[in-house]
Amino acid sequence: MIKINKEAIMSCPICGSKYKKIMPQIGKHINSECVFCHTVFGINNMSDCCVYCVYSDVSCPKSQKKQLITPSTI
Ligand SMILES: [Zn+2]
Ligand SMILES: [Zn+2]
Repeated sequence: MIKINKEAIMSCPICGSKYKKIMPQIGKHINSECVFCHTVFGINNMSDCCVYCVYSDVSCPKSQKKQLITPSTI
């Protein structure tokens, strides 16, 4: 069974608050709105995967899938 973690704990770079967010399975999400200070923050680098990979404690579902498919021993 492939288990994808869809719940991310976001860390706001503006006020430092942490909040829970359900990550969408599809699409590229480059920004997120902090539920505390309502600042919309996003990725600064186009080489970054998405806002979840940069500002949360887990990788986005897309990256998790990629890690699962890639064999750990080559
Ligand atoms: Zn904030
Ligand atoms: Zn990502």
